[in-house]
Amino acid sequence: MSTTETASATSSTASVPVIGHWVDGGHRASTSGRTAPVFNPATGAVQAEVALADQAEIDAAIASAQAGFEIWSGYSIAKRQTVLFAFRELLNARRGELAEIITAEHGKVLSDAMGEILRGQEVVELATGFPSLIKGAFSESASTGIDVYSIKQPLGVVGIISPFNFPAMVPMWFFPIAIAAGNSVVLKPSEKDPSAALWLAELWKEAGLPDGVFTVLQGDKLAVDGLLTSPLVQSISFVGSTPIAQYIYETASKHGKRVQALGGAKNHMLVLPDADLDLVADQAINAGYGAAGERCMAISVVLAVEPVADELIAKITERIAKLKIGNGAGTDGVEPDMGPLITAVHRDKVSSYVDIAEADGAEIVVDGRGFTVDGHEDGFFFGPTLLDKVPTTSRAYTEEIFGPVLSVVRVASYDEGLELINSGQFGNGTAIFTNDGGAARRFQNEVQVGMIGINVPIPVPVAYHSFGGWKQSLFGDAKAYGAHGFDFFTREKAITSRWLDPAQHGGINLGFPQN
Ligand code: NAD
Repeated sequence: MSTTETASATSSTASVPVIGHWVDGGHRASTSGRTAPVFNPATGAVQAEVALADQAEIDAAIASAQAGFEIWSGYSIAKRQTVLFAFRELLNARRGELAEIITAEHGKVLSDAMGEILRGQEVVELATGFPSLIKGAFSESASTGIDVYSIKQPLGVVGIISPFNFPAMVPMWFFPIAIAAGNSVVLKPSEKDPSAALWLAELWKEAGLPDGVFTVLQGDKLAVDGLLTSPLVQSISFVGSTPIAQYIYETASKHGKRVQALGGAKNHMLVLPDADLDLVADQAINAGYGAAGERCMAISVVLAVEPVADELIAKITERIAKLKIGNGAGTDGVEPDMGPLITAVHRDKVSSYVDIAEADGAEIVVDGRGFTVDGHEDGFFFGPTLLDKVPTTSRAYTEEIFGPVLSVVRVASYDEGLELINSGQFGNGTAIFTNDGGAARRFQNEVQVGMIGINVPIPVPVAYHSFGGWKQSLFGDAKAYGAHGFDFFTREKAITSRWLDPAQHGGINLGFPQN
């Protein structure tokens, strides 16, 4: 199974294939007449068009998911678990195919694509243990002859709307748990890299999941709005930029749905003077330029507590010079460290933030604007960029750039750095680098951020903890996966039960029941 096969299973125009939906357990060509281009970011070529669903397609996808739910929720725990284990085994054996699909549409290097699959697979593995995680509770003899117990039931059809930057991992934050708990899923992937979702759908089918339990609806705002407003859709799990996350949260809530909406980020690394600067420089490079900075947990600001800034900037600059940038597929004979950005439009937006920083008085230490790769002149490349003395009033500091741009802000003290982090609009991730345990402990207590690294630059929690930020980085009260995931995708019932012989019946009593 490859991207081409996936795409050609739907339909094709004269020049490029059209990527369609996955409904009722099979590929479905679109009849909407609306499409969007899917690029190969390394070459700049349009490699496919993706269908954008119309209302009839949205309704058909949701109706199929409702039918799938009615079948799947009736499966025993043991039968559901068998399917999950089969899915895990297939993913384990074949994930290399998925990595190639991700790289071809997203542009990230193959090893990084594999990394995102492995982090998603962790959630699949967690979900295989679902029986012990969704079992209810039982209190015998809560009152004389009365037992009280709770059961956790699936919600029904659940919607997942995902961003371009993790086309496999982000959907996998949600769907393994949703499906394990007995729900059916409609996934609306990013229109920029839509094929990973179809590959995962084929894998579910092979694992034995009944038709209609996993649906892929390709589309744009129309498809999203269809999910947000459909009375059949019970919950929405969204990951993307903050303005859209807020819109999703408000609209889905207004339509009576359970909603978790994860937004954007601006993650700071606070470097105390006692830190090991070689370790810090390595980690700043990995966390700032990995996936070309297109990670919601990327480090985009280094807060250097003086006097470390000059030495740290020298070490980061030295390392930038050694980075290899090129086609993430490694077709040039070597796997680069960093691939291109997702589109030309996004590359130009990243570039404009460097212009803004410069105009606002920042020093450009390494300039990635206008960067090209030999033989890939039309690819959407942007070179690793390092800015110093970025004014904290600049939009280049206050807004998310989502590209390979590291900004250094020099601060005089821990307190000044902490204040900057806490006054920002986002609260996704942050990290402190120090050898002082007391300072690190104070930081974890005082910082207003959802995920914190201590000498760890990208603190994405393991699957059995939960992922989510604070402030404008998460709308709603449920994080992704871990215990939050199982709570989000189940609904609890409490049952009070009494079995009595007729002789023990207490007769008529209109008083409020007491213990
Ligand atoms: P995006 O918000 O543009 O798109 C996300 C999804 O929303 C896509 O499926 C898209 O089709 C849909 N969408 C876009 N515009 C819409 C509209 N007007 N109405 C309804 N739906 C709409 O985000 P993106 O560019 O794909 O992804 C990058 C963003 O995602 C960054 O801001 C990044 O920080 C964020 N992100 C956050 C996390 C997290 O865990 N907090 C993880 C990954 C990415």
